Amino acid sequence: MRFSTPSTPKPLVIVTPLGVSQIQEILSCAQIHGMQVRVRSGGHDYEGLSYVSPVPFVILDMINLRNISVDVENSFAWVQSGATLGELYYEIAEQSKTLGFPAGVCPTIGVGGHFSGGGYGTILRKYGLAADNVIDAHLIDVKGRFLDRKAMGEDLFWAIRGGGGASFGVIVAWKIKLVPVPSTVTVFTVNKNLEQNATKILHRWQYVADKFDKDLFIRVLLTGANSSQEGKKTVEAAFNSLYLGGKDKLLPLMQKSFPELGLVSEDCTEMSWIQSILYFAGFPSGQSLDVLLNRTLTVISYKAKSDYVENPIPEAGLEGIWQRFYEKEAESAVLILSPYGGENE
Ligand SMILES: Cc1cc2nc3c(=O)[nH]c(=O)nc-3n(C[C@H](O)[C@H](O)[C@H](O)COP(=O)(O)OP(=O)(O)OC[C@H]3O[C@@H](n4cnc5c(N)ncnc54)[C@H](O)[C@@H]3O)c2cc1C
Repeated sequence: MRFSTPSTPKPLVIVTPLGVSQIQEILSCAQIHGMQVRVRSGGHDYEGLSYVSPVPFVILDMINLRNISVDVENSFAWVQSGATLGELYYEIAEQSKTLGFPAGVCPTIGVGGHFSGGGYGTILRKYGLAADNVIDAHLIDVKGRFLDRKAMGEDLFWAIRGGGGASFGVIVAWKIKLVPVPSTVTVFTVNKNLEQNATKILHRWQYVADKFDKDLFIRVLLTGANSSQEGKKTVEAAFNSLYLGGKDKLLPLMQKSFPELGLVSEDCTEMSWIQSILYFAGFPSGQSLDVLLNRTLTVISYKAKSDYVENPIPEAGLEGIWQRFYEKEAESAVLILSPYGGENE
């Protein structure tokens, strides 16, 4: 909403190129007319960088460039930057049940912005960030030159995988390495509120979550909730997990590395990797995979930002955070804690 008020600067024009030559023409035309170019792929930038500018600007929208070609035999894919993560995941799953890709949980994110900024998701502990798995790219630089990895050189190729693509040009497509996923994975969400020892369990989680077996990812979603004691508030911690394997292996692993959560077989659901994508995106079980192709999911407006916690928060610190959840302003607040470790050490 912040970016759609009457005073929000509007672009002079929105262009939707059909190919490389049109992007080159747009860049040249914008330079001649002194207009800044804002490149938009999925439009998920938290600060509106792809569609707001204080100076006269044109939006170069990549919506028509979203071709995806998967090479199962050689485990790679070319994906044009206007494609969404949902479209990419869908296409991979159409071609193979045992290949996946490590990227974010929200299917409507565009790969243009996501891969050029990093991109973390549920299998990052095993395979790293999306950007770590980019092996080539097609970029048009400010002079209109069309460059692949060899032509742009390793420094620029390094920079566009974390430094934000728009700082360096327009990314047309990425070549990505696909990663093996087992045909059966296991998911669970275990909820604990403060009366159920959430503070101590979360405190412990901070010490173990980045050291688990690389196949195991457990993030935590914190929300305010009503306590079972009338008139009182509590905080609920949802321990939300993906394990790359069956529950026969997961249960003993959890017993060994995080018994405090008390995971039992009934908490676990086995499914395919692509179904786990729907699970983490919040779709109900049984939902058709076609929902991944929907680019315009309706969501409520909210503001989000991210940061790194480098040292475990002491219990007293967590209790201070709980007080914030009780404030009126924070009624709908959500705090998501995602562990790194594994491949990211
Ligand atoms: C609901 C939601 C959920 C999210 N979940 C996750 C998550 O699970 N994991 C995670 O890592 N991140 C997550 N993010 C953050 C998201 O990955 C970044 O905001 C990402 O940059 C969005 O990419 P985009 O293409 O959709 O956005 P855009 O707004 O289109 O672009 C973002 C930035 O990249 C530039 N850019 C876009 N396309 C190109 C291109 N083709 N060439 C050059 N520059 C380009 C834009 O100019 C802008 O500066 C989430 C964001 C939202 C809003």
